[in-house]
Amino acid sequence: MPVLLPLPLEGAYDYAVPDAMEVAPGAVVTVPLGPRVLYGVVWHGEPDGTVPAAKLRPIASAVPTPPLRPALLRFIDWVADYTLSAPGDVLRMALPIPAATEAPRPRVGWRLVDAVPEGVRITPERARVLEVLRAAPGLVWTGSDLARAAGVTPGVLRGMADAGLLAPAQMAGLHDAPPRADALAPALTPAQQEAAATLRAAVAAARFGVTLLDGVTGSGKTEAYLEAVAEAIARGRQALVLLPEIALSAQVIDRFTARFGAPPAVWHSEVAGARRRATWRAVAEGRAPIIVGARSALWLNFASLGLVVVDEEHETAFKQEDGVTYHARDMAVVRARIEDVPCVLVSATPSLETLANVERGRYARLHLPERHGEAGLPEVTAIDLRREPPPRGRFLAPPLVAAIEATLARSEQALLFLNRRGFAPLTLCRACGHRFECRNCTAWLVEHRYTRTLQCHHCGHSEPAPETCPECGAEGSLTAIGPGVERVAEEVRTLFPTARVLEMSSDTVHGAHSAAAMAAMIENREIDLIVGTQLVAKGWHFPHLTLVGVVDADLGLAGGDLRAAERTLQVLHQVGGRAGRAAQAGRVLLQTWQPAHPVMQALVSGDIDRFVAEEMAARRAGGWPPFGRLVAVIVSATEAAVADAAAAALRRAAPVGERFVVLGPAPAPLSILRGMHRRRLLLKAARDVDVQALMRAWLAATEVPRQARIDLDVDPVSFL
Ligand code: ADP
Ligand code: ZN
Repeated sequence: MPVLLPLPLEGAYDYAVPDAMEVAPGAVVTVPLGPRVLYGVVWHGEPDGTVPAAKLRPIASAVPTPPLRPALLRFIDWVADYTLSAPGDVLRMALPIPAATEAPRPRVGWRLVDAVPEGVRITPERARVLEVLRAAPGLVWTGSDLARAAGVTPGVLRGMADAGLLAPAQMAGLHDAPPRADALAPALTPAQQEAAATLRAAVAAARFGVTLLDGVTGSGKTEAYLEAVAEAIARGRQALVLLPEIALSAQVIDRFTARFGAPPAVWHSEVAGARRRATWRAVAEGRAPIIVGARSALWLNFASLGLVVVDEEHETAFKQEDGVTYHARDMAVVRARIEDVPCVLVSATPSLETLANVERGRYARLHLPERHGEAGLPEVTAIDLRREPPPRGRFLAPPLVAAIEATLARSEQALLFLNRRGFAPLTLCRACGHRFECRNCTAWLVEHRYTRTLQCHHCGHSEPAPETCPECGAEGSLTAIGPGVERVAEEVRTLFPTARVLEMSSDTVHGAHSAAAMAAMIENREIDLIVGTQLVAKGWHFPHLTLVGVVDADLGLAGGDLRAAERTLQVLHQVGGRAGRAAQAGRVLLQTWQPAHPVMQALVSGDIDRFVAEEMAARRAGGWPPFGRLVAVIVSATEAAVADAAAAALRRAAPVGERFVVLGPAPAPLSILRGMHRRRLLLKAARDVDVQALMRAWLAATEVPRQARIDLDVDPVSFL
């Protein structure tokens, strides 16, 4: 029988089935490969047959775990074919080891002892753990969750257990009380009701179909799709909800818990150990009715999928860039088609891809026109930095400073958004002009003041920030150029010394727990001013937040890739949508050097449809997505000459035709990344061209030097 291994091989290998063993396609097995024994999956389709039956090695064992369902096998094949990846590489995502291969163990966790023993030393770290435990007495924590929530190492917990401060306890199963469809249904507005009824009907019909659910932020899109989820689970089917950044979606998960009376199953890379195994099993055995997850949840082995929802469908975070490059939103639609179930794409600012599919009549559209309750849409104003620039060495213009002051005076909260981590994006020596560049990448090093380091945001290289210039030896001559969130936070602390400032970026927010803790501080009004990167833009609902200031609205427009304008509009609209979600009206101020730019005009006027129409027209005229197809070819090698030679070989073998064109090669914008020299080519084709077939033929006809590596990116999102 063919067995597919989770390795970058061309296809499945044939194995003999021992007499006493019964396996069908989808069964998880172990097989010998060379000297090793590996996990694999009995594949569907015909055996390869190149090795005579008598010479086949036998399957070593059948693994007692639920077999991968036929629809999942077909999905894996489809994605491998579309993304031009090895099927085994795709399988690796659907067969997480050991979660899928080992039986769940009973989960043990920690709880606070009933009486804290006397005389035990309480270090600051131990005090933090006790504080976390006391916040929810009776709750049993896994070691990893507790360590993360308290910000301590597992060793601290072991020490506390030895000292009698923690007691081991049995954890509840994944779903001792599963979510219920009717736990707490809210009273929907008429518009929401209409949308919910349409979605419920689609779930009840149990047929494939895609619906775009759009509407301004706060219009109740989530409420509406929760009804579709309710319909699915009432019918005994599973509902999958994909979120772009699950680790930060504590508030969304809380809403599921409130609506359905029990938490959903959660799946993302941070879910580890015993919980990961229990979740994988529960999904495969149909014991988890609702699954909320990041893109990796698309690869779960659903027992009975009934609905797929992609929230914030426009988010580029759905594009996986490492390993198998795929767009989880697009592949969610594919999975729904293969499973023959409805798919709902949700966004306040849908992607042009999705809107084009609505225009073509392939997707239905449900629109929620207004914000729920008293909340109106925030008023958006541009601050023209040419006319009202910040004082020298500062980054907040006078009108924004005045607005913050007024907001704080009313005891409301303000958010300053700047999508750049660290203190300053560039450091240079005032004496000699030396600029600090990464030694592995074509990128400036970013100063991080708290850690006193210079960091590369592409490869992770970090070095101590020097006191003297390494080039000319001048002392104290290093100057920070431009702002990052740390620098904006420093500025507001100077301007508003009594305000309680919270910084939110991936440098300060470590996973779901710390995000939830910060969100709680904001909700409880322990914070006046938030300074954050795009981490704060997503999905949050803060009732007292009334002012959003965008420090550099032009930031995303630089670089000029295909979707720069679309993406800037989406991000700024979303971050602006955090303002005034409750009773008090919200305001958004955009600091920009280009107030006449179509993106700024659209945000200020609120006429996003017009922006979209113009952008669509431009894409159509140029034959760009969603009106054409792209495949990026990225060549990389440790030697520049090898990369050039490989790129030239690809160029020479490039296919020629009327309905497509090969652009490049050109050095990638990140022409050196992690020490690899990179060149890019781009296949641009009409929509009806079979780009996969074209790419296969092209690669087969190219002789690439062995030291060069070629990565393919079908439907690229990043052009770096
Ligand atoms: P969206 O997903 O469109 O941003 P949400 O569903 O998050 O909108 O709704 C915004 C806020 O309004 C949420 O706090 C939600 O609980 C509340 N809300 C929306 N519709 C209703 C309703 N019908 N009844 C009560 N609260 C609602
Ligand atoms: Zn680097």
